[in-house]
Amino acid sequence: NQNRKKDVIYTFYDDNMVKMQKEQDDLNGRFEEALANEEFEVFLQLKWDLKKNDWAGAEALCRWRDPIKGLISPGKFIPLFEQNGRIVKLDEYMFEQTCKIISKMMANGERCVPVSFNLSKRNFQDLSFIDRYQEIIEKYNIPHELIEIEITEGLLVDNVEAFTSFIKIFHENDFHISMDDFGTGYSSLNMIHQLDFDVIKIDAKFFRGGFDEANQTIVSSIIKLCHKLNKLVVAEGVEQANEVEFLKDAECDIVQGYYFAKPLPVEEFKALLFSKPENK
Ligand code: C2E
Ligand code: MG
Ligand code: MG
Ligand code: MG
Repeated sequence: NQNRKKDVIYTFYDDNMVKMQKEQDDLNGRFEEALANEEFEVFLQLKWDLKKNDWAGAEALCRWRDPIKGLISPGKFIPLFEQNGRIVKLDEYMFEQTCKIISKMMANGERCVPVSFNLSKRNFQDLSFIDRYQEIIEKYNIPHELIEIEITEGLLVDNVEAFTSFIKIFHENDFHISMDDFGTGYSSLNMIHQLDFDVIKIDAKFFRGGFDEANQTIVSSIIKLCHKLNKLVVAEGVEQANEVEFLKDAECDIVQGYYFAKPLPVEEFKALLFSKPENK
């Protein structure tokens, strides 16, 4: 009988699901405490300028140093905090911590490079975050040229019109803006131009799996297109020498990847930045 069947609801659990749920509850439960204890840490990954043969800048990447579990990578907690909105607080914390680092380096007369930040789409639900970021920049006296905002391509498709106005505000505030993970979402090529990005970051996926001829063709076409539109091009996730050679020939501007540098804690990042760059 049809009605009786509908009353029966089967729920399937397996140990993994229970374990994952518990892990997520733990991470969520510890968020505020971890933030207060400064367990979230800024790692910085240097980017290499292929044309100047020098460091071009760095990306700030979050790590969670849990006193018991050790280092937790963003893949474990960023998607979770994106779902429940905690990411807005975390992004701002990362931004302020990094501005502190830059301001100390400036005060010491040390070499500084532009640093890029990942901004979750959650921030765009309430534009007041722009004022708070502006305040942080003023508090630490950071020149705008040293700040770049990365926005992942995936979030653009939802609302192009709203996004156009965000970018306008960003530019009025002199922030440089990058489209992160280009090639993973569904945005049309037209959008890179329409949305007025300064920098396009080609996603790491093109360099996985041997970097075959098809991927090489796609990458060199993206570079040509971006240059015609006056965008700077960064290639992400580059690990191999042959990929770097290819990117040089294709006139890519900047490379970010383990081949040149891994994301590093501040002191190690500084040591690498201040070291005389080898002729890579
Ligand atoms: P993303 O913004 O695309 O950052 C680049 C990711 O690629 C980083 O992973 C980096 O460690 C990794 N990577 C760089 N070069 C290589 C390479 O040569 N090989 C390989 N295998 N990986 C490489 P990470 O640090 O695990 O971060 C993952 C993602 O988490 C980031 O991707 C970003 O979307 C997000 N994320 C990290 N920190 C923050 C943050 O503070 N706020 C927000 N909203 N998102 C963040
Ligand atoms: Mg990024
Ligand atoms: Mg990203
Ligand atoms: Mg990326």
